[in-house]
Amino acid sequence: MNIQNYINGNFQNPIDDQWLDNFNPANGEVYGQIPNSSSKDVEQAYQSAKSAFKQWSQTSLEERSRILIKISELLEDNLQRFAEAESKDNGKPVSLAKSVDIPRAASNFRFFGNAITQFSSESHESVGQQAINYTLRQPIGVVGCISPWNLPLYLFTWKIAPALAAGNCVVAKPSEVTPVTAYLLGDICNEAGLPKGVLNIVHGLGVSTGQAIIEHPDIKAISFTGGTATGAHIAKTAAPMFKKLSLELGGKNPNIIFADCDYEDMLNTTVRSSFANQGQICLCGSRIFVERTIYEQFKVDFVAKVKQLNVGHPSEAHTNIGALVSKPHLEKVKDYINIAKEESGTVLCGGNEVVVEGYENGYYLEPTVIEVSTDECRVNQEEIFGPVVTMMPFDTEDDVLLMANKVKYGLSATLWTNNLKRTMHMSQQLQAGIVWVNTWMMRDLRTPFGGVKASGVGREGGFEALRFFTEPKNVCIKY
Ligand code: NDP
Repeated sequence: MNIQNYINGNFQNPIDDQWLDNFNPANGEVYGQIPNSSSKDVEQAYQSAKSAFKQWSQTSLEERSRILIKISELLEDNLQRFAEAESKDNGKPVSLAKSVDIPRAASNFRFFGNAITQFSSESHESVGQQAINYTLRQPIGVVGCISPWNLPLYLFTWKIAPALAAGNCVVAKPSEVTPVTAYLLGDICNEAGLPKGVLNIVHGLGVSTGQAIIEHPDIKAISFTGGTATGAHIAKTAAPMFKKLSLELGGKNPNIIFADCDYEDMLNTTVRSSFANQGQICLCGSRIFVERTIYEQFKVDFVAKVKQLNVGHPSEAHTNIGALVSKPHLEKVKDYINIAKEESGTVLCGGNEVVVEGYENGYYLEPTVIEVSTDECRVNQEEIFGPVVTMMPFDTEDDVLLMANKVKYGLSATLWTNNLKRTMHMSQQLQAGIVWVNTWMMRDLRTPFGGVKASGVGREGGFEALRFFTEPKNVCIKY
């Protein structure tokens, strides 16, 4: 499938007529071409967004809401088509794209279509001074949204929907590795009646197309999800231009298991929190810490369950683990497995590439569990972002807290316990933006989403996202 940029409501080739190959991770074959856009394309997208801004920012909330909810409905109507496209582009099981990625993309539009009608600002009466202050929440103008490859449409729309709801116009770039569903979204926006130029989607490499967005002097805010190194680069580029920044970055999340948890529930959820989406979710619990009294039992039960996971072609109904997103990513994950061995980690299961019959050149890897003897080894400290987890025992609450917090990241943490006092204490002490207790990745779109330390700056979700995509202006009237 060949795709094009979506600018001013039209589909068009990149100005310089440069193209990139798009690979199908399930068989390693090139199955389409995507624009390798330059700064000229980004400028055109910016001009189109700028022209649309005056009218869109003045469009009533009801009308904006109606259009966003219409986009949501059209995504739902096209669930199967979008799920298949996402799976082909990313390598994830179709069943996952159908149950998680595309429904969530639709929810993002529906949620922010509704949220904008409930978004209000404050007023402050200055008693004794005969004055009243009120706050206007005005859209920023043209904003940039840049998203990664792991949850392509899900994370793309998580940014675009609040940006549009708040009255901004958008120049967006999906990952060049997984651009197809973002391309398909253009048609849906046209069908839903989104005015021309309000959303512009430019495809290409991070270092060129993405770079042109972040350094554009008049794109005043950047919402970015991706790796920590890229986030640092974006911050460095954007800071001298005083851009507003929302950065959702990497994670190395602890999954802390106490002996007093509901064991079966914990076991099943831990398989999911370790390997969902081939472990390529920033929220995956990639460091498992287990209380020593149940450690040996957990090790036997967990490894047995992981061995039952089926690695296979993403469109097969029985597939639990599809293909990794790209050849370079597969190589990176394999390198980490070798590093673990060099660091005297023990591979309890997995660790090898899988050859799937008929798709011999696909990027498949066994789900891998590594027992480590210290939390300070590289595989326990660095983000692998694949189907690999580490595990080790702990003795006390204090010990595990120390290890959980002793990484540069701070995105999420999972805690398994039925002890209320411990829950309260640990939740308070864990350095993370999100703590799940006796569950994982249970999401309510109203809650603040984001990380601390090297996992990011700012929060998405609910009114936090609408606040990010608006500028507060204080008006003081003396009467
Ligand atoms: P990258 O940082 O490589 O890329 C993310 C996006 O940024 C892509 O669209 C990429 O384009 C683009 N990009 C790269 N360089 C630049 C640049 N100089 N200027 C502007 N844009 C640029 O991350 P990945 O796509 O590899 O995604 C994986 C990472 O994302 C992991 O670290 C993961 O933890 C993190 N992540 C964080 C989440 C969170 O909510 N905190 C959620 C999901 C993922 P291109 O792909 O074309 O290079």
